[in-house]
Amino acid sequence: MRPTAFARPGRFYRGNLHTHSNLSDGVLDPAEVCRRYRAEGYDFIALTDHFIGEYGYPIVDTVPYRDDGFTTILGAELHSGAMENGELWHILAVGLPADFAPANAPGFNPVAGQETGPEIAARARAAGAFVAIAHPQWSGLTLADARSLAAAHAVEVYNHGCATGADRADGFHTLDLLLSEGRDLTLVATDDAHFNEPDHFGGWVMVKAEENTPEALLTALKDGAFYSTQGPAFNDLRVEGDTVHVESSAVAAVIVQGQGSAAQALHGDSLTRAKVPLTRAADSPWLRVTLIDRAGRRAWSNPIQRG
Ligand SMILES: [Zn+2]
Ligand SMILES: [Zn+2]
Repeated sequence: MRPTAFARPGRFYRGNLHTHSNLSDGVLDPAEVCRRYRAEGYDFIALTDHFIGEYGYPIVDTVPYRDDGFTTILGAELHSGAMENGELWHILAVGLPADFAPANAPGFNPVAGQETGPEIAARARAAGAFVAIAHPQWSGLTLADARSLAAAHAVEVYNHGCATGADRADGFHTLDLLLSEGRDLTLVATDDAHFNEPDHFGGWVMVKAEENTPEALLTALKDGAFYSTQGPAFNDLRVEGDTVHVESSAVAAVIVQGQGSAAQALHGDSLTRAKVPLTRAADSPWLRVTLIDRAGRRAWSNPIQRG
């Protein structure tokens, strides 16, 4: 069994799905944000400014910054309704139409009568977006909150800005609990860059597509044809019987995780081909794989559903 990212034709395109500009609370203008990502070797970004009234509900037009080697997907970070802790929802929506209707969300505090988080997420998904639960640990998201976001395609498991600014980058706890409840979700690593601190070029997705166009990338994202990384590369991944086969850039550990506490690690100095026995994960309904290089940088496969 080979996940779609490694089975389908095409090549991997590097992209950041969560980015801000000075059209909300970021520092740089959209042209400069795109220029910096392009110069760093990215193939695409989604500029996802805060979709609130204070900033005029921006869905930034990044079409002028596309060229032969770089593209953009329109998007926004959506806000409406309160989480269980009383704070405003943060929901990543990549692939929104430019005329996506605003919520009644004037600022960063919830107001009475506005759409709930699950409602605006469902509206975004229906409008064609790839929807992710943003930075669960940073938000103080509860499991009940996460469960309620039925429209989510993915959980943001690593947010580089939340790592550098708050040391609260994690979304894996939320993801693994939802997977164990039977949810079919993917995972994304992002920057959430504002360029006001070293919050950029730290976490990204590698999306398998036949061409670097917004349409092809968005379809691949919804299909789960990608992996997430801070640097290490997956070259191949497959499950054969009770063994996970991984081909990768040189890493120091390959770890397979499954339901509950199930995990199996293989350690080495510069592993590029690993065979990891499933052991306690043999009966898990889902698996995922983590690579860790000698610098401590990680890469994460999407969950593999075994049903
Ligand atoms: Zn946010
Ligand atoms: Zn953000």
